[in-house]
Amino acid sequence: VAVTLFSADTETFLIAPGLQAPPLVCLQFAYDDDAIQVLHVRDPACYLHVRAAVEGPAIWNFQNTAFDVCVLMAQYPDLIEPLFDLYERDQVCDTIIRQKLFDIAKGRFKIMSRRGYALDRIASAHKLDLGLDKNDPWRLRYGELVDTPVSAWPVEARRYAEKDVYAQRLIWHAQEKYAASRAIPLDDQFRQTRKALWLRLMECRGFMVDPRRTEAYIAEVRKVLEHDREELLAAGLVRNNGTKNMLEAKRHMVEHCRRAGHEDIPLTDGGEESYAAWLLAAGALGFVEGEDVADTLNRAPIGLTYSWWETQKDNALAGVSLNEDSVILYGDDLMESYQRYATSTTQLARAERLYLAARAGKPIQSTFGTLQDTGRTSCSQGDARKGTDANKSPTAYGAQIQNPANDKKIKRRDGSVFLRKGPRELFVPRRGRLLCSTDYPSAELFGWAQCCIWAGIPSRLASVLNNGGDPHAELGAELAGISVEEAYRRKDANDRDFIDKHRKTGKHGNFAFMGGAGAPRFVDMVWKLARQQIPLEQDTPEGPSAVTVRNAWYKTWPEARPYFRWVSRQLSGERGNERGDFTQFWSKRRRGGLWFSAMANTPFQGLIADIAGAACWRITREMYTGKCWDDRTRPSPLAGGFLVDFLHDEPISELLEERAHEGAFRQGEIQTATAREIGPDVSWGEIEPALMERWYKSAEWVFEHGPECKSGGKSTSTCKHTCRLIPWRPKENKAA
Ligand SMILES: [Zn+2]
Repeated sequence: VAVTLFSADTETFLIAPGLQAPPLVCLQFAYDDDAIQVLHVRDPACYLHVRAAVEGPAIWNFQNTAFDVCVLMAQYPDLIEPLFDLYERDQVCDTIIRQKLFDIAKGRFKIMSRRGYALDRIASAHKLDLGLDKNDPWRLRYGELVDTPVSAWPVEARRYAEKDVYAQRLIWHAQEKYAASRAIPLDDQFRQTRKALWLRLMECRGFMVDPRRTEAYIAEVRKVLEHDREELLAAGLVRNNGTKNMLEAKRHMVEHCRRAGHEDIPLTDGGEESYAAWLLAAGALGFVEGEDVADTLNRAPIGLTYSWWETQKDNALAGVSLNEDSVILYGDDLMESYQRYATSTTQLARAERLYLAARAGKPIQSTFGTLQDTGRTSCSQGDARKGTDANKSPTAYGAQIQNPANDKKIKRRDGSVFLRKGPRELFVPRRGRLLCSTDYPSAELFGWAQCCIWAGIPSRLASVLNNGGDPHAELGAELAGISVEEAYRRKDANDRDFIDKHRKTGKHGNFAFMGGAGAPRFVDMVWKLARQQIPLEQDTPEGPSAVTVRNAWYKTWPEARPYFRWVSRQLSGERGNERGDFTQFWSKRRRGGLWFSAMANTPFQGLIADIAGAACWRITREMYTGKCWDDRTRPSPLAGGFLVDFLHDEPISELLEERAHEGAFRQGEIQTATAREIGPDVSWGEIEPALMERWYKSAEWVFEHGPECKSGGKSTSTCKHTCRLIPWRPKENKAA
């Protein structure tokens, strides 16, 4: 079936902090191979052509579509709902997303994404020579032409406006040909452009920061910094101007490891790469085509890291790891002090950036990446300029808000303990609004059970979940050597010995092993997660060894061995080196070049990402159109709200206070309904929405109980109809 292609682009005023969808200057477009038209925003034809394209049958083809669509939505608010409809009719493409889907399918995403997805890069990937001139003199100047009709524009200004449309058109056709010739499915592209739009709308709104709280936070961090500075100055690990002497710190670490008799030096990811390359180059290891660094190092002999380090001398960047885990396991007191200092300086720089935005009354507008090879999103600070002088003002004040540091108790050498606060509580809703977080409970377990079923394997985990059981108590029963009935009895009786020992270990085991982790990896994960040392093979009176937990896990979930056999069957294909491609059961997104562990994780991680993405699309639609996505005659309580953050499967929104209760439940219901629609064989957990006046990690639902309350003042799901959700507050503030 021939489609009509609407290739288009916009020119706008400059983006700036708080202004991510700036005013439109012109729209340039072409249907199929027609001549390219440039329409000025002041020309009434501009709006009419946009509307015709939104309502018509043509496929939209933009580069970074979400940016242009947000500009159009801001310019023409009456087209917001028709634009959502256009996306839902699968009519919106994006040359970047299509290219990412190719790179992921080929297993080359990590390499290719480093090169970026600019038009000329995509063009050269398809061997198209467009003669694109990156030094477009007009790129940042179209705002100057807002009072001039296109007919009076300088020739270059018009030419530059047209050239991207021309390029996008050629690229789209090259991509179609490429997909067909390699049989790479593009089914997922429309879902991914929808995801790109709701993420972009979220970036445009941004997350507000409380300036006074940030000031106090910065003062706290400075105090911690001072505490460690003197000793580090004396040891030469910090210079007089306060900067870290990293080379000296690494030397100290290596020397300490030698003295303490550690067989190897802890390395960073970059260090591991460099070390692996050195081993191969020196002939200490044979070369294996296409092997991961982790697998190379698994074959490496013990104790050669010291010889490698000798070759790195005077290289401050050489990858000796000084992170917290390495320092705790390998370092001494001085290294711990250095590590605290390093963390504090990073923390300070980040907080100062938040403060700049807060002082200027601007939101934090981070850069979210729509698609990683796992199917998940990513988040980064984006433009790193600080904007302390007007000429270097950044395009937005961003921050990593997807994975912010947690609060952490830190022990000092003198035995004193302090709490290192993460930045979460600096983030606040706008006036008259509340934050709302809705987290899928144990999404991975449901996802894994669903993927087992899709792979044709009967799942005991699915029946436990669907019957409202507790998978962690079930594994805990096996570990405690008691019956499942007894385990549930002890859990209900709040038996701390069972809950804190067996059920908790069961929980770690359930999350670790379904992704194909072995016992050593489990030891590592529990240490990182809970700072708990689990022995590898020998059970102790304090608890079972990793091997025992792994065996109990296999016994509890009979689907596990068949699942991993299924995973193995996906490997080895054409490369004959135990790698394979996987096409997502539901979304048909292909990921290529997977080793065993990625193959074990990709099906359920990708599924959860797809579910969360689809749910946030519906949530955002309701927020912006004010209507329920599944019944457009019904007003949605989410109207007027918006998303401010997205933590992989947990959205955080800002809801109008007066509708926060209804909005919060609606948000959670959409997530659950979407999950059940996409993964129909498992029940997926009920979501318990939490409201907040500040961003808190541990917020839970709290109700103001009404006279009709049937739960006796406890927060339960029956309160939804009889009581009102109120903001959760941490204990120390409850009196206030
Ligand atoms: Zn109640």
